[in-house]
Amino acid sequence: MTEVLPGGSGDAGRCTRCGAELGVWEGGRCACAGPLGTRQAEFLYAVACTLPAPAHVRDLVRLAHHDHGQVIAEASAKVAVAADRRFCWSGSGIYGLYRHGPLPGPRNLEHVGRLVLATTGEPLTAAALEYCLKASGYRYNPASLKNALHQSAHIAPLVDGRWTHPVGDEAEHRLLREVRVVPPSRHREWPALRDALARRFRESLIKREARLRVPMRPCRPGLDWGSQPTLWS
Ligand SMILES: [Zn+2]
Repeated sequence: MTEVLPGGSGDAGRCTRCGAELGVWEGGRCACAGPLGTRQAEFLYAVACTLPAPAHVRDLVRLAHHDHGQVIAEASAKVAVAADRRFCWSGSGIYGLYRHGPLPGPRNLEHVGRLVLATTGEPLTAAALEYCLKASGYRYNPASLKNALHQSAHIAPLVDGRWTHPVGDEAEHRLLREVRVVPPSRHREWPALRDALARRFRESLIKREARLRVPMRPCRPGLDWGSQPTLWS
C-alpha cells in the first residue's frame, strides 16, 4: 500500500514504501509493489519503477516479459508510454519517470525547451539550455536541439544569441494546455512545480557557470586528456 507525503518542494509527494519522488501525473501511487492494473501501460510503468534511470521502450518491453510474463509489441508499447504522462520522454524512444530527472509532459525537445525557458523565466543560450537538459537526463543529438529551437513557434532568438519564451499567465496557460505538464484537474499544483523546476535549473546554471570558470590546464604530450575539465564532467 502506498500513501503520499506532502512534497513541499513542488513534487507530488513521495511513496512511503520505496521513498521515490512522485510526479504530478503519477496520481500519488507508485507501482513499486507491482502493476496497478492489467493494461499494458501498467506493466511498463511497474518496470520503470524498478529502474534507476530512463530506458528505451524496447528495454521496458523486454523487462515486462521477464518480470511479469507480459508479451507486449514494441510498437504498441511506444504508443502506450507516449500517451501516458506518468512516463516522461527523455530522448528518441526513451522514457523515464519524474524521479529519474526528465520533465513531466514534454514529448519532444521543443516541448522541453519551452518548459525550461518558461520556468527559469530568463533567456538562455543553446549551450546553457543544453546543460540543463543533460543534467535532467535527456539524451539527444545537440543538432536536434538547435533544430527544435529554430523551428519552434514559441521560442524566439535574441540578438545576443540567447533564446526566449513568453512569460506571464497567458503563456503559461498555453504551455500547460499544449505540453500537458500537469493534469487539468491538478493545475493548482503548477506554481509549486514551476518554482521547483526553476530552482533545479538555476542550480544547474550556477554549476555550469562555476565549471566555465575553472582554468583549463595546458595540454602537454603524455598528459591524461581525460583529466581535463570539460563542460560535462
Ligand atoms: Zn513506491
